[in-house]
Amino acid sequence: MRIGHGYDVHRLLKGVPGLVLCGVEIPFDYGLSGHSDADVAVHALMDALLGALALGDIGLYFPDTAPEYEGISSILLLKRVMELVRGKGYRIGNADITVIAQRPRLAPYITEMRARVARAMDTGIENVSVKATTEEGLGFTGTGDGIAAHAVVLLEKEQ
Ligand code: MG
Repeated sequence: MRIGHGYDVHRLLKGVPGLVLCGVEIPFDYGLSGHSDADVAVHALMDALLGALALGDIGLYFPDTAPEYEGISSILLLKRVMELVRGKGYRIGNADITVIAQRPRLAPYITEMRARVARAMDTGIENVSVKATTEEGLGFTGTGDGIAAHAVVLLEKEQ
């Protein structure tokens, strides 16, 4: 078994269309800024997957200077990372994602977020946990300047 951790932050900006978290578009007045769709949760997850196999980080595979990744769905990138993982002979044990955001309230979207990520990783929804928390108004997540995400994954070697 291999374990990996990932962490990411993106800035929240007013008027940026489409807040996307775990591949789910969430209605909100603010969106995350970034080169891709800025799905901070999926970015943390991809870094956890790459970290588990000591394969570097997503900046290595999907540089934010490359025009082909502008506005791209991070779920598509996740599928590519999973091809790497499977190519190394591993499958998902489980993944646990924590999104840190003061607003919006994510509870209504959690099941869909889990389903979307599980489908992209070709694993069961029972293997994907998504949790949301606030930082009690403290720091950059508390002021709404940004959203942060952590992810931990366990990979199992295929028999
Ligand atoms: Mg990112």
